Amino acid sequence: MPTEKALILAGLFLLLAAAGWVIGRFGERDEEDAPPPLNIDYLKGLNFLLNEQTDQALEHFLRMVRVDARTIETHFALGSLFRRRGEVDRAIRIHQNIIARPDLASEQRDQALYSLAKDYLAAGLLDRAEKLFSRLSQGSRYQVQAIEALCRIYEQERDWEKAIEAGKRLEVLGGRSLALQIAHYYCELAEAAASAGDYASARQYVKNAQAGRPRTMRGALTRAHIARDTNDSKTALKLYHRIIDENTYLIAEALPEIVAIYTRENEVDELERALKSMLAKNPEMASLVAYTAIVNDIGGIPVIDECVEQYMLNEPTLGEFVELQQLSDGKGAADSRFARVRGALSKLAAATPRYQCQECGFSSQRLLWQCPSCRDWETQRPASRVQFDTVLQHSITK
Ligand SMILES: [Zn+2]
Repeated sequence: MPTEKALILAGLFLLLAAAGWVIGRFGERDEEDAPPPLNIDYLKGLNFLLNEQTDQALEHFLRMVRVDARTIETHFALGSLFRRRGEVDRAIRIHQNIIARPDLASEQRDQALYSLAKDYLAAGLLDRAEKLFSRLSQGSRYQVQAIEALCRIYEQERDWEKAIEAGKRLEVLGGRSLALQIAHYYCELAEAAASAGDYASARQYVKNAQAGRPRTMRGALTRAHIARDTNDSKTALKLYHRIIDENTYLIAEALPEIVAIYTRENEVDELERALKSMLAKNPEMASLVAYTAIVNDIGGIPVIDECVEQYMLNEPTLGEFVELQQLSDGKGAADSRFARVRGALSKLAAATPRYQCQECGFSSQRLLWQCPSCRDWETQRPASRVQFDTVLQHSITK
């Protein structure tokens, strides 16, 4: 009995065969009386597929393409079907077989090269894929797609210089701005230079990033980190505060740095003042401050502790939990109960993803500027606080 997988493949193939037969039948009027050219061969191939004899089916179709050039589109379709099913080796054989045809038109050769490059990409053979995409990017009807694929390859290889070059070519050829993407490529270079201690190059890369996209928060964050690492506390604080003002979600990255600098400089009073003024302007940021403090285990600063306490009391599940403790232990023990719940939350937070991609839902512990799953840039946001409830409920019911 053929499986569902075999039936889907065979069904699709039957459609392609029918299309091929129609082309063969009506496409050439001068041979109207000739018998349809495809039926027997296609039925044989179909039979192999239905019996899940995929290797025999593949060999059969490879022989066919040598016989009849009119079947070539069907072979492209079959190759891409194999690739989508994850049978990349078979896709590669089909496309190599097409390329080997001596009488291939240049357009079909480009199509086969493009398909083969995608096979190599799917197989993780980046070097081979890069070579073919580079060739196609020099001038073919797949030029734009080839450069897009090259960008993805350079991203995977972390070859940011080449990625910038490809991105800029794509902007010209594709007629659309890739400022966000290119700014991140520069920021990657800036971060690498900064961690190697080459701050002059790092600053220049940030400038390049901001030339194409002036409000690049990652660039601002990199500049702030450089200022921090070069003991320019004043500039670092100015930049971290600005980052929070402009993109509240980055508080998770900036607040721990701000706290560390004020503490290092013995200016905790100044920190209190700065945070109070920030919260007076944006009271809704209190829960973000609390969340960040819990995640990073920041305590001992009255304004932050107050945010955390309010956060715990306002969470439906946590609120009940904390109140219960207060009732059973009396008022005097409330503070130590808060501290214990807070300590437990910090531990839970360490095991809970902190960031989630808004496009595809991929989550991670630290902020990733490019989502590893959907490959989009700047799509991650701090995970919602509901996750604490979920973990807590899970641990209570266990
Ligand atoms: Zn994503």
